[in-house]
Amino acid sequence: MNKPADIRHHTVPLWIGGKPVAPSGRMGEVYNPATGQVAKKVVFSDAKMVDAAVKAAAAAFPAWRDTPPLRRARIMQKFLALLQASQKELAQLVTEEHGKTLPDAMGSVQRGIEVVEFACGIPHLLKGEFSENVGTAVDTHTLRQPVGVCAGITPFNFPVMVPLWMFPVAIACGNTFVLKPSEKVPSASIRMAELFHEAGLPAGVLNVVHGDKEAVDAILNHPGVHAVSFVGSTPIAKYIYETCAKTGKRVQALGGAKNHAVVLPDADLEFTADALIGAAYGSAGERCMAISAVVAVGAAGDPLVKLLEKKAQAIKIGPGDQDGVDMGPLITAQHRDKVAGYVAQGLREGAKLVLDGRARALPEEGFFLGTTLFDHVRPDMKIYQEEIFGPVLVVVRKNSLEEAIALVNSNPYANGTAIFTESGGAARRFENEIQVGMVGVNVPIPVPVAFYSFGGWKNSLFGDLHVHGVEGVKFYTRTKAITRRWPHQDTPAPGFNMPTLG
Ligand code: NAD
Repeated sequence: MNKPADIRHHTVPLWIGGKPVAPSGRMGEVYNPATGQVAKKVVFSDAKMVDAAVKAAAAAFPAWRDTPPLRRARIMQKFLALLQASQKELAQLVTEEHGKTLPDAMGSVQRGIEVVEFACGIPHLLKGEFSENVGTAVDTHTLRQPVGVCAGITPFNFPVMVPLWMFPVAIACGNTFVLKPSEKVPSASIRMAELFHEAGLPAGVLNVVHGDKEAVDAILNHPGVHAVSFVGSTPIAKYIYETCAKTGKRVQALGGAKNHAVVLPDADLEFTADALIGAAYGSAGERCMAISAVVAVGAAGDPLVKLLEKKAQAIKIGPGDQDGVDMGPLITAQHRDKVAGYVAQGLREGAKLVLDGRARALPEEGFFLGTTLFDHVRPDMKIYQEEIFGPVLVVVRKNSLEEAIALVNSNPYANGTAIFTESGGAARRFENEIQVGMVGVNVPIPVPVAFYSFGGWKNSLFGDLHVHGVEGVKFYTRTKAITRRWPHQDTPAPGFNMPTLG
């Protein structure tokens, strides 16, 4: 069995048919963003390797589908216990490959583990419906059955949590799975596959392939894959959605975001500023639910910006495994330079640069960038319109709640949003009118708990069903309606015309 040490120091393998495999082929480099050094290599899958993973999943499907849901749930419970025991180890892998701080990584692993807790109770949600006597001596019932081989394609920013949004739910529903995590953070997925195997998951039920577009396209074009869950940027989400539509696969494709926090003048500004600082700069702004735009209403503007400046300046930046560090590096040098480019862009566009992250004294090695704050940002500026995905917060000034709601609703992204206010009436109006999938009231990052579902609207989600919770179960199952009659002497004979059953 592959030991954790292997994924720590060498080549990160694929996981196919219940074991690690390391075929020769194209390789990618995995960085430690805090040092800027290549830490490991990872095998990049081609169509043949993806085919081997899909075949392993297809071979495991019939027996897994027919395994009683409670037996599946017992394996899930053992997986849960192993994940809990390995929380720190998994968080360390996240910090090593993503760069976020260890406490932040621990929190994200915890949120993933909560989905596994939810998945343990999924048998309850697999129950069908039954109606007696829908016609004379005719009964109808529904079955909720697994879809088949499902695939998950995940982003770099949550190497544990986002895969856990997908495969435990799919597998608890009786599906088998092929996961393609981000090639930038491949190790945690392999460790989770090992733990699931140790928990008693039959070989082939969960498989992991690595790679880039080549591996993704092989999944999308494989006739043996029946459903695809994707989380990543909006252009790729749209591509995944369109390709799956062409190839006839069920699909949920979660995309990028520009999440607004609306701050009303009656809000507790000290509390609000603390909430916004964590939501904007936590995980170096590389969260799909990060607050990246503050809409300061009326008199809230000046004092709020002062508080944000002071608190953003005080954020301690350094390697994520060091005690007392608030914010780690960005994922790659290229991404760091792209984010820094947005700071230059904001200046060119005429926004007021309150705090320049490029000017901050930073560790010499690694992909670090300081915290940036822009004020008086206009909606026509690129720094407002585009997802920056880094430690850059923009403040837009508005005069009223109406104007703030109109601004948020005109944005093409609609993942999360929050309002900060003491007014129940204003908050209720915001909840009612805002065109966004997840809403917080004095809660900056309103990620729903595992037994609710996660997903945005508009360009933040292509597809119909959100992930985990009841919608996740719906995505990974399909219903079959069965109408049956056991003929006896009083049963009316079947007719020639459209049956009405009455
Ligand atoms: P990304 O879109 O670059 O990559 C996501 C996945 O798609 C990866 O597995 C990657 O290998 C694959 N991929 C990349 N380019 C591809 C291509 N041309 N064709 C096919 N597959 C391709 O996203 P990322 O940079 O890893 O993650 C950051 C993005 O993810 C941000 O936009 C963020 O908002 C978004 N995100 C969204 C959510 C959400 O729930 N809506 C959650 C986390 C992250």
